[in-house]
Amino acid sequence: MNLKDLVRPNIYALAPYSSARDEYQGHDAAVFLDANESPYNKPYNRYPDPLQREVKEKISQVKGVPPENIFLGNGSDEAIDLIFRVFCEPGLDNVVAIEPSYGMYAVCADINNVEYRRVKLHNDFSFSAEDIMQIANKRTKVVFLCSPNNPTGNLMDRKEILKLLDLFQGIVVVDEAYGDFANGKSWRFDVNTFPQLVVLNTFSKAWSSAAVRLGMAFADKEVIHYFNKVKYPYNVNQLTQEYALDLLKHSYDVEKWVKLILGERPKMISAFAMLPYCEKVYPTDANFFLAKVSNAQKIYDYLIRKGVVVRNRSKVTLCENCLRITIGTPQENTALLSALRQFEE
Ligand SMILES: *Cc1c(COP(=O)(O)O)cnc(C)c1O
Repeated sequence: MNLKDLVRPNIYALAPYSSARDEYQGHDAAVFLDANESPYNKPYNRYPDPLQREVKEKISQVKGVPPENIFLGNGSDEAIDLIFRVFCEPGLDNVVAIEPSYGMYAVCADINNVEYRRVKLHNDFSFSAEDIMQIANKRTKVVFLCSPNNPTGNLMDRKEILKLLDLFQGIVVVDEAYGDFANGKSWRFDVNTFPQLVVLNTFSKAWSSAAVRLGMAFADKEVIHYFNKVKYPYNVNQLTQEYALDLLKHSYDVEKWVKLILGERPKMISAFAMLPYCEKVYPTDANFFLAKVSNAQKIYDYLIRKGVVVRNRSKVTLCENCLRITIGTPQENTALLSALRQFEE
């Protein structure tokens, strides 16, 4: 399989925007009169590094992936959109995704006028590479997997993903937004073995920084090159880059937060499972769990009245009468449980 054959021809041929900062990359000049910036209000008068080199160096150390295999974007949502814009010809190509999964894949497909083919998960929320191959055709450019999956919470089987990488002649995306909460080995360590593999990570979940909008994609350096050609020149602003550098120095804080959440998770699950109207709590590898209840809408509405918001996933495939509940602080979790214990059917 050749990556070049998967990329849209116009993107392959694209001459990307070349900014003043691309053309002059040294740091030793004293006078910068090349970018029509204001000389006042330092340091925010200057455009940020379009390739976020310093941040990537730090992420490389923390994540164990070389900088040339890293793309940074305005949330991982930017990377998802770029996957469509780089690989999928509107009106002609299609993508395949597991169902249920993260809603942004389908929205980005619709925006880009790319057909979105859904492959239902098994009842235990596992997927099969064979099922995906059945639905894929010559125009299938991308397969989206999410592991641990949102909203089901489970990791996708490693052997099954290997099988898909072997059978499918296109891009395989493994969205690991919740990977820091799981025990499985991350797929980011395999991007130099499989040139068609794109692994997504984010600062929004375990890294506790959804507000700053910073997402990562790990992939073969040729894929990273196509993303960089298509992205907005300054897609990650200076404030976000500074914030990320600072947070990366405190990665032990992140580990501490993850430990706290993972400590709360089994307590929440067993307490929830004891509720008289709880029918099932699904196993989870993420910072949330999915639970089947007797009447999800009624419980959801009741909780809103109590000032507690959970996610009602009842209308989602395989999730009838299911609520998706995020693990919060011990205080927040107690507030949810005490409200739930007062609920009367
Ligand atoms: C929350 C989430 C993301 C994060 O998106 P950002 O744009 O990085 O905030 C990505 N994928 C999945 C499956 C998610 O649940």
